[in-house]
Amino acid sequence: MRVVLATANAGKLAEMTRMLSELQVEVVSQLELQLASPAETASTFIENALIKARSCAEQSGLPAIADDSGLAVPALAGEPGVRSARYAGDEANDPANNRKLLDELAARGGGDRRATFHCVMVYLRHASDPAPLLAHGQWEGHIVEAPRGGHGFGYDPLFEDPELGRTAAELDAPEKDARSHRGQALRALLAGIEAEVHPGAGR
Ligand code: IMP
Repeated sequence: MRVVLATANAGKLAEMTRMLSELQVEVVSQLELQLASPAETASTFIENALIKARSCAEQSGLPAIADDSGLAVPALAGEPGVRSARYAGDEANDPANNRKLLDELAARGGGDRRATFHCVMVYLRHASDPAPLLAHGQWEGHIVEAPRGGHGFGYDPLFEDPELGRTAAELDAPEKDARSHRGQALRALLAGIEAEVHPGAGR
């Protein structure tokens, strides 16, 4: 089975390829196929994930897996949310987004530092698939005062897992995959795909 992974984000691509490598799924990335990225125009993770998967399935003629993910901070009314990648502006990079997150929290007193990583993962069998498979993973944590750790990407250096007392950027790849929103969503999605491709297996 050959599937296109609908992401141009190198950090997410590395995590998804790593987790899919254990399965008998041949993964080809959107970048390898030189597919264009659609505009993520919707206001929810689920809609944006569908936009990305549908666009890649249309352009490639292959089944597609896409994720849309981001950080939701209750003290900021759910921001940065679907704008996580471009919180500090359309050309923003990770350090600028992290700086803005700390500044916005400080501007509100910084008392409530709870945050949740969300990842919605979708599988489209073909571009006009009317019943995509969906999975939603969540990772609860809080935002630390200053970045820590050198792994991962995005908001990882600011997001601390309270059970571990370490930021996501202080976890190595297997540790992050085991707990992360993306790991949870991908495992759930793959269980759904497996059940469809090999019905009866595991029963
Ligand atoms: P997307 O490409 O629209 O899904 O943007 C996701 C953005 O959310 C990323 O660019 C990061 O800023 C943030 N994000 C999502 N998942 C993670 C993660 O696992 N670690 C750190 N930041 C993340």
